[in-house]
Parts: sequence; C-alpha cells; structure tokens
Amino acid sequence: MDSEKIVQRLQTIAAETRRRCPLALRPGLSVDLYPPSILALDGHRFFIGAQGIRKFLWIVAPSTDSPLSGEFQGEWLDSGGGIKRCAQTHGNAIALRCRFGFTRPVPIGLHSSFGLGDRLGLANPAHLRAIAGSGMKLILAQQSIRELERTQRTPDQVMDAASWAVFQEGYREGFGADADHLKTPEDIDLMIRAGFTMFTFDPSAYVVNEAAHLPAAEAAERAQRLPWDTLEDRLETFLARYVERPFHIADDFCIRPSREETLRALVKYGGAIAHAVRLCGHLDASYPDPNYEVELSVDETDTPTSPLEHFLIASELRRLGVRIISLAPRFIGDFEKGIDYKGDLEVFKREYRRHAQIAACLGPYKLSIHSGSDKFAVYRAVGSLRIGSVHVKTAGTSYLEALRTVAAMEPELFRDILRFARPLYEGERRSYHVSAELNRVPLPEDYPDARLQEFLDQDDARQVLHVTFGKVLTARDSVGDFLFRSRLLDCLTRHEAEHYDFVEKHIRRHLEPFKD
Ligand code: ZN
Repeated sequence: MDSEKIVQRLQTIAAETRRRCPLALRPGLSVDLYPPSILALDGHRFFIGAQGIRKFLWIVAPSTDSPLSGEFQGEWLDSGGGIKRCAQTHGNAIALRCRFGFTRPVPIGLHSSFGLGDRLGLANPAHLRAIAGSGMKLILAQQSIRELERTQRTPDQVMDAASWAVFQEGYREGFGADADHLKTPEDIDLMIRAGFTMFTFDPSAYVVNEAAHLPAAEAAERAQRLPWDTLEDRLETFLARYVERPFHIADDFCIRPSREETLRALVKYGGAIAHAVRLCGHLDASYPDPNYEVELSVDETDTPTSPLEHFLIASELRRLGVRIISLAPRFIGDFEKGIDYKGDLEVFKREYRRHAQIAACLGPYKLSIHSGSDKFAVYRAVGSLRIGSVHVKTAGTSYLEALRTVAAMEPELFRDILRFARPLYEGERRSYHVSAELNRVPLPEDYPDARLQEFLDQDDARQVLHVTFGKVLTARDSVGDFLFRSRLLDCLTRHEAEHYDFVEKHIRRHLEPFKD
C-alpha cells in the first residue's frame, strides 16, 4: 500500500471505530492500530500501532526528509516511501511532549479530580476511558516516592507511560501529574526533572500524634521549642491571634478555640507547617516554571485531623504564603488499603462537611481523599453532600484489577503470584494501613480456574496482594531474571483488551457516586 492509500484507510477506520483493529501497511506487514491515536499534521499522519506485544509510534510522511518526522528517532520501512517506525523510547516521549502539547501534564486547578496511579505503566489508557463522561479532571501520572522505590521505576518512566497513553487514546482534555508524598527537597528535585506539575508535600514525620495526651507542662514546653524562625512568629503572638477569638467559617459553623485546644493543635501540627514552608521555599526557588500546584497531606498519621486543627493549619499556611490547591486531612475512621471504609459514615459526613467549609473559607482549595481505592461508601457520602470540590487518589486498585486479569486469563501465573505473596504479607504490611489476616486467605490450589477471580473480591486476599506488589514486581531468581515482572507485563499486554475492560469498569464504579 502506498502512503496515500494508508492515509485514506486511516480516515475510514477513524470514522468507523475506536477499537484496536488491523491495518495493512504493505504486503506482509500489518499492525494493530489504535484509531483514537490518529493525528494529522502538516501532511503527516501519526498513530500508535502494535506489532505483536510491542507498540510503536508510526509516521506516514510526505517524504523521508521531512523535518517533522525527523523530530522522532526510528527507521523508515521503505527506501522511497514515507513510513517511519519509532519505538516508545524516552527520547521519543520527549519529542512527543515537545510537539504535541496535549501529551504534557498541566495543573488541574480547583476542578474536582481523580488521581489514578499506574504501578505497572499499562493501565493509563483504561483510566482515560473510565474518566470519559465523568465530569472529573484526571491526574494520570500519580507517583509517590515510596512506590517508585518499591516498583524500581523512574519518574521518567511514569511520565512517559502517561504521555504515550494520552496519545494512544487521543485524550485532549488535559491531565495532571502528581508527585505524591514528597518528604524532602531531594524528593522534589527528583520529580521536577521529570516534568511533574503537582507536588504533594508530606510533612507527617513532623506531626506529633500524642499532642492531645501530653501533660500540660510538656505541651507548653514543646510549643516553645517549635521552629519559630521558619514560622516567622512567636508563641505569644500566635496564641493571641487564635485563643478565644471567634472565626466565622460558615453560617452554621463558628470556631472559638480555647487556649488549651490552640496549644495542643499547635504542638501537633506546628512542626509540619514549618516543614511545608521549607518544602515550598525549595520548590519556589528551584522550579523554573511557576505553573504548578501544591497539595499538603497529613493523611498518613495516626490520629484524625479535627476541624479546628485543619483550620489552624490552613490559616497558618495562608499567613506564610503557602498556596495550596488541595489538602488531605487524616479523616476520621479507617481508610485501609484496597477495601471499603471502616467507621461511622454519619460521623464521617459531619466532619467532612466541616472540613469542606474550612476549605471554602480559607482557600478555596480541594479536599483530598487518599487511600481512595475502593472507598465506595465514602464516595456516596461525599457525592451526596455536594459541597466544595474534591480530589481522590487511588493506585493499588488498578494493580488489583491487573491481577484480576491474570486470574481470568492465566490462572497458573496468578496462583504463583499468590503463593509467593502469602509468606511476605507479615513483613510487607508494616508500612501500610491494613488488617487482613493470612489465615482467612484460602490457598490458591483449593480454587478451580473459574473461581480464581474470587480472591479479588475478598478483603483479606486483596490486602495481601495489595501490599506485596513491590516484592512481586522486583523479585529475581538465582540467575537475576525477574520472577514475575516480565510474565505479568507480558500477560497484560497479550490480554490488553480484557485488562483495559477490567480496569475501566472498576474505576467507573469509583467515579459514579460523584456524578451530578
Ligand atoms: Zn496518602
């Protein structure tokens, strides 16, 4: 087929379907085309097409010396023709982002949004399909430092996977990139270099969870010892600003903190506020483009953030010039990994409303719900309140849907992974909020192939699989080959349609309760 015929064929396919379908490029060479990726520019056609389990960017160019095609590294298929095959390398991802603005992340702003982490780098296209029609904005490259280490991926790999996915799906609505749970200036630097546009500060190491129970003298002494230079304040003036002063947050909500409440809230979060100021100063000084957004998260701490504490944090951040797009309190109740909310939903709703009122009064900024995987009860509660805008973060749930795909398509691989994961659970659970008991997880050999997916519907098995992802993805055998990583990625690539369908369907369930 010559170039002109291919261009015509692309047009016909684009009008007919969004589903992956075969495209003949010349006799003996056919690729699996992703129709939404077809893009016309200056007489060229760009599209994503797979050969076997490998995807490429293809360029149909008017001539082999066109400058536009020269921006991408690859090989020409015919000496005289104009078909170029470009691997999905980091270099070509950079070229893609330079040339096509919609493949670059942008700040999302105050619009309600969903963060969908992709530990394997294969789920993003399904995330894009799920978000369509939800009314939500999307944070696609959402990556915490902890998870980067556990998956042994680089920030560039995460960003490139998002850009290629956006191009493949022809998604033009704009997506965010969240450098999640940053604890040090070095964490910030690492993620800036990869082009992230949202920075989530996690000063939880400075949160004093026991503040409410300290003897009064010790609380007072700790308050004195806070880094007042960084806080640009003194204890006396701080207390004078808050103690017994009425703050009208909303029509039905006024805060008038006692001296004791103010002091203990200060002891609990004062160091965290100072650390957020330091991180913000570093970001301001080192980020070349002021077009980014900041979230503050204290969700990974032991004690819930009360509305009064939230108020003090937000009020102080504002005084110190730290502008935030979202704040993640530690909400009341249990947000365990990979399963639904545990706690009194009426209490949650009441507190959430107060938090949202504070966010509206002192921002506005979004309330951010972390560990958002599978918190359907919370979504229904928040959705029904219709107050303020919200950001939700999920990651593990997409990994579990990947495992569901494996259970459905390659049962023996799933059994191997579960067998491997079980004895690791007690060690791996330590850094996660989970409650699964290993003895409640059945043995995989007791289940026939057709019932293996039930493991993904059982809370204990979900958490065992959820927290062991790092070891599953990085364990190697005696000669240095990956035990599971390659098999897992190959399986998902071979069964891409099923994988996308599982992830899309499951993420849609997350989005549904927020619809108008
Ligand atoms: Zn978090």
